[in-house]
Amino acid sequence: MNNFAMIRNISVLLFIFLMCACKNTAQPAASHESTTAVPVFSSDSAFGYIQQQVDFGPRVPNTDAHRRCADYLVSTLEGFGATVINQKVKLTAFNGDKLDAHNIIASFYPEKNNRILLFAHWDTRPWSDHDPDPKNFHQPVLGANDGASGVGVLLEIARLISLDAPERGIDIIFFDAEDYGAPENHQTHVTDSWCLGSQYWAKNLHVKPYSPQFGILLDMVGAKDAKFYREQISVSYARFVVDKIWNTAHNLGFDKYFINAAGGIITDDHLYVNRIAGIPSANIIQYDPQSVNGFGDYWHTVNDDMRNISKETLFAVGTTLLHVIYNE
Ligand SMILES: [Zn+2]
Repeated sequence: MNNFAMIRNISVLLFIFLMCACKNTAQPAASHESTTAVPVFSSDSAFGYIQQQVDFGPRVPNTDAHRRCADYLVSTLEGFGATVINQKVKLTAFNGDKLDAHNIIASFYPEKNNRILLFAHWDTRPWSDHDPDPKNFHQPVLGANDGASGVGVLLEIARLISLDAPERGIDIIFFDAEDYGAPENHQTHVTDSWCLGSQYWAKNLHVKPYSPQFGILLDMVGAKDAKFYREQISVSYARFVVDKIWNTAHNLGFDKYFINAAGGIITDDHLYVNRIAGIPSANIIQYDPQSVNGFGDYWHTVNDDMRNISKETLFAVGTTLLHVIYNE
């Protein structure tokens, strides 16, 4: 994803600053706990799924690590009983690179008409162009958090829903080629250079018609002390989904992570799922508008490795998501 639009827009920054100044500081309401039996999220298991992706190395399109990781993701999902559709396509990046892209679409309980869509990107960025050391700019990002964390949480959720069917059917999509976007110093401005896999999918749905009740994107959901603000594209397209997630997190006592205040305006896969596919979708993403870096300081650097991954954060995100899924 990129935050270029926000950096350029001083008025938006001012608005966000003002919103943050009056953020909700209410205490968790333990009495609101759900009565539905909800599976227990294993952060050890999710951590292991992240580690396994990272062990392949950077998952940059057209590399062997990318192909081997795709095989791993497909076989893991099939092992959980999902029906998997492999959407393979050649996509052209902003710089002319032809990418062998692979969207991985897993359906659980495909016979159910009422569905929820969960998604994350599984590729990693070819360049560490936000590294403080310019000599690292051409190194690929390992993507423990930016890539593997969202996928890892969703693999653990896939494992749990395969054991205990929720009321609704669940689709999990791992989008490719999210992070191949134009660097901010690119000579010419390129529109829609990020999120190539989700843009393709939104124009070429794997089944038609396809109209899940709502969608949730996870991106950078594993860092220690991550803060998830109410991302503003999500609020404008899918306010009810944002409310559902942040209210659930509050009732579970996860206010430390899920901050009930306005966040950034972030170009990410959910933009195209909302805009093109018309599925109201919210993004859970680490972006702290009050911090110097916005995203964590590991973001798009050579330091996005397992040292950043916190089981506590994974537990908060995974547990919140399970409660949203099972209380629908
Ligand atoms: Zn990224």
